[in-house]
Amino acid sequence: MNAFECLQSLGVDVRALDGGDLVSRSPIDGTELGRVRVADPAQREQTVAASVAAFLQWRRVPAPRRGELVRLFGESVRRHKQALATLITLEVGKITSEAAGEVQEVIDICDFAVGLSRQLYGLTIASERPGHHMQERWHPLGPVAIITAFNFPMAVWSWNAALALICGNSIVWKPSEKTPLTALALASLLDAVARDFPEAPTHLSTVVHGGRDVGESLAADRRIPLVSATGSTRMGRDVAVTVAGRFGRSLLELGGNNAIIVAPTAHEDLAVRAITFAAAGTAGQRCTTARRLYVHASRYDSLVSRLQRAYASLAVGDPRVAGTLVGPLIDATAFEAMQTALADARAAGGRVHGGERVAVPGLDGYYVRPALVEMPHPCAVTARETFAPILYVFRYETLAEAVAGNNGVAQGLSSSLMTRDLMESEWFLSAEGSDCGIANINIGPSGAEIGGAFGGEKETGGGRESGSDAWKAYMRRQTQTVNYSGALPLAQGVQFDVE
Ligand code: NAD
Repeated sequence: MNAFECLQSLGVDVRALDGGDLVSRSPIDGTELGRVRVADPAQREQTVAASVAAFLQWRRVPAPRRGELVRLFGESVRRHKQALATLITLEVGKITSEAAGEVQEVIDICDFAVGLSRQLYGLTIASERPGHHMQERWHPLGPVAIITAFNFPMAVWSWNAALALICGNSIVWKPSEKTPLTALALASLLDAVARDFPEAPTHLSTVVHGGRDVGESLAADRRIPLVSATGSTRMGRDVAVTVAGRFGRSLLELGGNNAIIVAPTAHEDLAVRAITFAAAGTAGQRCTTARRLYVHASRYDSLVSRLQRAYASLAVGDPRVAGTLVGPLIDATAFEAMQTALADARAAGGRVHGGERVAVPGLDGYYVRPALVEMPHPCAVTARETFAPILYVFRYETLAEAVAGNNGVAQGLSSSLMTRDLMESEWFLSAEGSDCGIANINIGPSGAEIGGAFGGEKETGGGRESGSDAWKAYMRRQTQTVNYSGALPLAQGVQFDVE
């Protein structure tokens, strides 16, 4: 299926693709896939006003009924999984199985949200005053803006959208300007389900296309109590300041610089697979991609030579072809950033293996051989996130030294330790160990499941999405006290008698 056929099979009104000013290009070969219209200021204004009106209705619908809408949407995504995955491959360049995995994440979070719609539990709290009771309740918040990055064009929106909807909120999506078609497709499936759902107001879910300025206008809009933004740390810094300036809430999912530590007792076969998938999979374009590797000196030579062999054997090419493991980078800018980082690493004393452009006959995209870079020590280039498949490798002597390296960067998303030593593993997971939002043993740092809260510390932004109790970010908490005593005792024994 080509993009046009995918969109048609998903019920998108393809006339909307004519004459738009935002062009979607496939990273596979640079061809134009379609065009959408950028939302101008008047349309943005109308969209947010409509989203506020939708919220006022939706918040009155009981949460389990809201869950029913999400259940029906999840069913629709299940039925259209193939076409949605094909669209991700065409617009982002993900290999077929990773694209299908991303759609599966959408389905999984819908299932999770349906169950959650009956579990938005508050607390009852013992009151110190006789004849009183206290409780904590969670109420819907308002329209939620969801700003997403190009590399997970469906999953990240769905983590936010499924929870925001069951929590009683309306949603406004500003997708990446690089992936407007996947957004159009997924949002139109939700629209179709909502149209047939009696309690769903129109404009419950809306999309505004455009670039940075459209994101900025949502961040500044006082009618939007929560802005959930996923992307670079640069973007998050702007959004955080703007939203804080109006005392709104932001939920930030930003850049990572994730490390794997390979300890003396690590299972080598497992480590080689885990490292290669985490560092080279998705062409190094996951926020959780492994970018730094700390190998114990006793394992260094053997592991690095096995990794070199594994890297040399990786099938780089057309992501639509079975057997391909590494598809293209998203665009020329990503390729140039990768080459700049490799030059910087060489200048800092690094030995670079791989990293060159790979010619794929007939396809004018940016295909690269993933790079392994042996570094003498951490430096400026290894401290920054370059969104491409580069793995910097360091040798270490003590676990304390490796954990200090893991923690010694500004980002704090994900981390892994490969070990069969229980004491090392427990220490890594303790308060003295990894400082990241995600810490794994014997798996790589990428490939999170939706059941856990997802997100990271420090310059990764501090937000948590998806599973566990991440839903609380999408609601407002109210502490309630009820007096059924007929008297008015004051808290803390305060006396204030009036005639
Ligand atoms: P990006 O920051 O360039 O863009 C992300 C989104 O933010 C886009 O929709 C863009 O239009 C918008 N945007 C840009 N500047 C903005 C501003 N000043 N105000 C409001 N909106 C703005 O990121 P990208 O290149 O699309 O994605 C790659 C980055 O995203 C990487 O840094 C990656 O680590 C990060 N990411 C993080 C997570 C996570 O969960 N932590 C997940 C996916 C991607």
